[in-house]
Amino acid sequence: MGAFSHWWIFGREARRRRLLRRRAIPAAEWSAVLDAAPVLWPLSADERRRLHDLVVVFLAEREFEGCGGVVLDDRLRRLIAAQACLLVLELDLDAFRNVGSVLVYPRGYRTRRHHEDEFGIVSEGDDELLGEAWNDGPVILNVEDVLDVAEGEPFNLVLHEFAHKLDMLDGDEDGVPPLPRGLDADTWRRDFAAAREDLARRERRGEEPPIDPYAAEDEAEGFAVLTETFFCAPWLLEAEYPRVYAQLRAFYRQDPLARDDALAEIGSRP
Ligand SMILES: [Zn+2]
Repeated sequence: MGAFSHWWIFGREARRRRLLRRRAIPAAEWSAVLDAAPVLWPLSADERRRLHDLVVVFLAEREFEGCGGVVLDDRLRRLIAAQACLLVLELDLDAFRNVGSVLVYPRGYRTRRHHEDEFGIVSEGDDELLGEAWNDGPVILNVEDVLDVAEGEPFNLVLHEFAHKLDMLDGDEDGVPPLPRGLDADTWRRDFAAAREDLARRERRGEEPPIDPYAAEDEAEGFAVLTETFFCAPWLLEAEYPRVYAQLRAFYRQDPLARDDALAEIGSRP
């Protein structure tokens, strides 16, 4: 590391410390944010404090924009930021360096999708989209689904879209984010593929899969959906696909199952 980058990081850290002094979220308002997101309930006091600091910096460094008539207030901005930052609680906020801005629409929106097959035949179809993450572009969310976070339900739009951003960090949206030392990309791919194939098989048989079969769509959706399950219903992921659980635990450096029994008491634990 050269002297320049050392001073750059030093300057950045000093700026972040100043931010934390000036823009700290008042305690009562911070509690309200945590209360509004069930996935944050099991966090320890120390984790809540560290999450607060990440949220303050994240909000200062990212542009949020309400679209289609959405008026973004502090509460909604913080609710989105807090859940996004849960992903990087044990990583580095720089993992979101590819998040340009966060656009928030009132509800899911329709878009025309353009498909081109191997013979160059183009077809178009309508897809109902809940959110999107563009490589080096914005994260797009909608208020309805951001607020639809039921206790113990393995769905969370914010975690989903920001997981796509982590996946894209190396330029490819292929379900394999840049892995830390100790995690092997081939093993990672094999474990996720096995889970996706199992979900697809169960759906074909007409079973009701315990995890959203959208995970089976492709590698990228597999990583995003199973990340949602990992944080929101860890007992479910551990029971169904323990190898994927172990991979995500090593990647995020968090163990939601061990975090707090309170989470296990919530909702649909078998
Ligand atoms: Zn997705």
